[in-house]
Amino acid sequence: MIRRLMIKRVVKDEKLQELKRMLNAAQNIVITCHVSPDGDAIGSSLGFMHLLRKWGKNARVVTPDMLPPSLTFLPGTKDIVVFTRQELMAKHLIDNADLIICLDFNALYRIDRLAPVIADSCAKKVMIDHHLDPEGFADLQISHPEMSSTCELLFHVIYFMGMKRLISQWSAMCIYTGMMTDTGNFTYNSNNPDLYIIIAELLRRGIDKDNIYNVAINTFSEERIRLMGYALSEKMELFPESGGALIVLNHDELVKYRYQRGDTESLVNRPLSIPGINWSFFLRDDVEYIKVSARSTGDFAVNGYCEQYFGGGGHKNAAGGEYRGSLEEAKQLVYNIAESLKQQNDTKQENN
Ligand code: 5GP
Ligand code: MN
Repeated sequence: MIRRLMIKRVVKDEKLQELKRMLNAAQNIVITCHVSPDGDAIGSSLGFMHLLRKWGKNARVVTPDMLPPSLTFLPGTKDIVVFTRQELMAKHLIDNADLIICLDFNALYRIDRLAPVIADSCAKKVMIDHHLDPEGFADLQISHPEMSSTCELLFHVIYFMGMKRLISQWSAMCIYTGMMTDTGNFTYNSNNPDLYIIIAELLRRGIDKDNIYNVAINTFSEERIRLMGYALSEKMELFPESGGALIVLNHDELVKYRYQRGDTESLVNRPLSIPGINWSFFLRDDVEYIKVSARSTGDFAVNGYCEQYFGGGGHKNAAGGEYRGSLEEAKQLVYNIAESLKQQNDTKQENN
């Protein structure tokens, strides 16, 4: 007997029927996600891969670049083809695919050097994503920015296509991971009751959510802990008059603390714990470019600043970009933002 879940139907039925038709018609399916993949990107990709394999499809995940070590515990990671490492294999899979599923990104530039390969492929393309303003590169676009993660959206898609029975324990583990990481372990964007109905359903597959939290979010190398401590104690600048914070890490500091991909994950959120601080920027010198991360709370939107100054974008409260200029220039741009917000606040106070 199929148990009905009391979750709201959000994805239009025509879209689900179309997706089902496309999946039925396909045998070789490639799943891809954004560059510097996070828990939601990898979780949704592997979660869907396991489900499609159970369905009898030949499904492979191709990522634009490496995944962080914190996610390698997920079942199926060893099977991922990383474009920057195995370019020929990735191209071969994409050339032979009859369907490409794009998860957790809304524009082709988000897959970096993989973009022309995907764009040139004759395969049909499906986008399933929760970022604002999709570019419209896919034949079928399932875009729901109101969802807190692509994994949550993916669960809806699977459930309302009537395929819940194909969610294995492995698939559930991956889907749960993305829901957890994109909400900071259910501490933001997480007030929708339906989330917890989905979690209950995933737990019924026998997943250990406490262990997933410990491995994916709460495991730190000694260097990472020390880098975080250093960044917060020595490198955090506050702008109390505009409610902002900035942390900058230069290349020498990253080398000193033996920085590994993922080591500064969530650092940008830390200043937001201080009362009165409602926006925060983190700048990291990755040599090729300056990695920009921005976070905010409440109505304060950071995505506009990332778009305008750093060639990036994102969500209202979580955005980022890759700035092609010097660290000093990027820093100055954040100072300018702080200064203009301060002036706006001053003007408001004068008017009151
Ligand atoms: P993070 O700071 O964790 O790298 O990114 C937070 C969010 O900002 C991501 O989920 C994504 O929506 C957005 N983001 C990060 N980097 C970029 C970028 O280079 N371009 C755009 N458009 N969005 C980005
Ligand atoms: Mn996401």
